[in-house]
Amino acid sequence: MTDGGRQMFGGALVCALALAAVTPAAAQKAPAKSPAVPAASAVQKSADVSIGLKRDAALAAALADVSAARIRQTDSVLVSFGTRNTMSDTTSESHGIGAARRYLYRELRAYSRDCSGCLRVEYDPAMIVNARHPQKVTMNVVNVLAWLPGRDTTRVIVMGGHYDSCVCKTNTNDSTSTAPGADDDGSGTSAVLELARVMSKRYPKGLDATIVFALYAAEEQGVLGSAHLAQRLKDAGLTVMAGLTDDIVGNVVAENGKVDSSSVRIYAVDSVPSLSGELARYVWGLGAVYLPKFEVRPTFRLDRLGRGGDHGPFQRAGSPALRFTERLENYKRQHLPTDEFSFVNFGYTANIARLNLATVASLAAAPMPPDSARQVRDTLSGGQDWDLKWPAVQGAVSYEVLVRSTVQPTYVRVIPVQGTSFLLDEELDDAVAAVRSVGADGSRSLTRVFQQPLRRPAGTTTTPPSTH
Ligand SMILES: [Zn+2]
Repeated sequence: MTDGGRQMFGGALVCALALAAVTPAAAQKAPAKSPAVPAASAVQKSADVSIGLKRDAALAAALADVSAARIRQTDSVLVSFGTRNTMSDTTSESHGIGAARRYLYRELRAYSRDCSGCLRVEYDPAMIVNARHPQKVTMNVVNVLAWLPGRDTTRVIVMGGHYDSCVCKTNTNDSTSTAPGADDDGSGTSAVLELARVMSKRYPKGLDATIVFALYAAEEQGVLGSAHLAQRLKDAGLTVMAGLTDDIVGNVVAENGKVDSSSVRIYAVDSVPSLSGELARYVWGLGAVYLPKFEVRPTFRLDRLGRGGDHGPFQRAGSPALRFTERLENYKRQHLPTDEFSFVNFGYTANIARLNLATVASLAAAPMPPDSARQVRDTLSGGQDWDLKWPAVQGAVSYEVLVRSTVQPTYVRVIPVQGTSFLLDEELDDAVAAVRSVGADGSRSLTRVFQQPLRRPAGTTTTPPSTH
């Protein structure tokens, strides 16, 4: 920067500070004509965000089975237990978390009976220290799980929600006060239960990958139930294709009166080599294919600021992880006795459940993405093209290379490829390329972003490194 530039910058800074000093905080709003930050869906409105994902007729038919009335019924039962705090009563049949989990277990068992035992239903208990309790007590944290085994039992997709509730705004560990948790997360729990019902009915023989419907406890004490499950799956040597959570998926009216019942937010970290961002692009694309009137709004971030959820442990374990959450939250009700049944919009929750179903069924039908993907500048073509290579994937009949610029949120170019290499006519200094597997039935895997091979350590190169 020149001296003149520095002076100008300094002058502008002084002006801004002077303005701040005389303007009351309440008046410091953006001018009325200033546009709000657009959602990713608006950023790429003109492009097709479906990234070449195809509509499967059987799956589209299954979406119609998702019943808002059943989700509503489940949530009303959950709320009737008064509190589902993880430290609440476990012996009563009508009150507390014990009654809640036995109810969920019974429902899942009933679905399994209806599909000739296709679901493996279990309690998944663990004794875990509650670090958010003043005495650091050990709690019996019990998840309720239903497994829909696929042809490959080493690959699992976890679709979860947490059935515990709290009045965390006053005391996370209050075990007796009314904590209806109708939205947080009775809505997500009820949606996942409905998915287990629909998928067990539609796919009693399972899909390719195994699906775990997971109803977690102790989310409110620090995602303890999901952390236990993520660790258990890792210890068992299973590959988690996605750790998905529905958390707070039923409110459509914000405390300021704004209403949105036609869009949902998804949160996922977008950083290579993690596939979470690719999972978000997949969900975004599936939303466009299966629920075109329901807007999916991706945010490439683990969660809302200062918040967390049951996808977190899967992200930390290195698996693709994503959270579904309502577009507009009502912060005056969360973690309070006012998180009541009457405020949940079950038609809205059902649409999120349909998006869940499209995601879980598509992923479970698909092969894995290639384990790795390597990009090298093609010197033969003068350096403008790029050589792409990846290892073959079991179950893939072909592949697709996808490309976007670094400033585009999702892919705009989809190129069918036979074999496991491709010469790409794009300048990858300014773009991102990825590859995915295509199954015999047309199912698509998540995308794997191409990466540059690591440079050899200094002193071992045979050609001088470029410094331009
Ligand atoms: Zn929650």
